[in-house]
Amino acid sequence: MIVTQADVMVTSPGRNFVTLKITTDDGLVGYGDATLNGRELAVASYLRDHVATLLIGRDPHQIEDTWQYLYRGAYWRRGPVTMAAIAAVDVALWDIKAKAAGMPLYQLLGGASRTGALAYGHASGFELPSLFDSIREHLELGYRAIRIQSGVPGLDTVYGVAKSPAMGERYDYEPARRSAAPTAEQWDTRAYLRHVPTVFEAVRNEFGPELPLLHDGHHRMTPIQAAKLGKALEPYDLFWLEDCTPAENQEALRLVRRHTTTPLAIGEIFNTAFDYQTLITEQLIDYVRSAVTHTGGITPMKKLFDFAAMYQIKSGIHGPTDISPVGMAAALHLDLAIHNFGIQEYMRHSPETLEVFRTSYTFTDGLLHPGEQPGLGVEYDEDVADKFPYDPAYLPVNRLLDGTVHDW
Ligand SMILES: [Mg+2]
Repeated sequence: MIVTQADVMVTSPGRNFVTLKITTDDGLVGYGDATLNGRELAVASYLRDHVATLLIGRDPHQIEDTWQYLYRGAYWRRGPVTMAAIAAVDVALWDIKAKAAGMPLYQLLGGASRTGALAYGHASGFELPSLFDSIREHLELGYRAIRIQSGVPGLDTVYGVAKSPAMGERYDYEPARRSAAPTAEQWDTRAYLRHVPTVFEAVRNEFGPELPLLHDGHHRMTPIQAAKLGKALEPYDLFWLEDCTPAENQEALRLVRRHTTTPLAIGEIFNTAFDYQTLITEQLIDYVRSAVTHTGGITPMKKLFDFAAMYQIKSGIHGPTDISPVGMAAALHLDLAIHNFGIQEYMRHSPETLEVFRTSYTFTDGLLHPGEQPGLGVEYDEDVADKFPYDPAYLPVNRLLDGTVHDW
């Protein structure tokens, strides 16, 4: 079997997705997600202009060799654009291999280690009543673990907090705006640090001690601020505190760790295992947050999780709606197979997105399952996709109240 064609497809059913389709002379087709939110066309070009022709004639079964060929062969290593492009190739080849085997992909990764993957959803509200409504809505949808993001007094816009929806609408927070430039959000870390513990106290009082609660700091704190927040949240027994400091500085987590027993999760903007070396070997985190789509695919993610397992660190794969259903399916096959699974982020895609991507994964009683279709279990409807042309979108920028650019 050889690869005969590699096509890059861009569609925007409510948001932009880049998908790689690899076709073989046996007629098998594999899909990979190459979506890099806000920089989509850079990855599309990388694949179209620099990778697609290299794949023609290759044996699609040689996944490890193809991965190394693209990673080492480019000379310029790592980076989100490169690693998203390699991820798309890797996932598409795993899709083909599993289809050739007539098995769902998780069987090739060692088979199921559990009946399903515990998922967490995103609840949010500017005030406690709307936050409580959002939590109740997620519980009714079947979620058994919930991320809590709240408004902060004095700030008009806050990361992760949806505008209060009209009756019957979803509480989704969608940061990417379709406009010619990024929108600006505001930030005040001291106001945030004062407010967040009161929110978790109220949520625990209302919903009890058992519900796993998560929170995302979205890279905004200094190490000592993060340590302070982790310590303040200890009475509320968080499942994790995510991205408490900007992740480039791995050593920062030593300081945070010294001061708090709140579990720490990090890594959604990392793109290789090397970004975790200090964090894992010094046991400075509890959960690895990488996305399959942004970390080079299934091949390196399996190695990364096996490395983390030696230090009792678990998975928490990144899964917002800018991870396409192809990327989500790839995550679910890993979730089911690896031993050190922790939790899976899961936001539901829009109906328009699910018209383009026909999925076979399921969400039942709080657990996701990739389904039993051979391969990833996702089909891409090109005719429907063509109805949604690319629409430029940017993630917001973040400024302190005095106008200083801050981490978003
Ligand atoms: Mg996050």
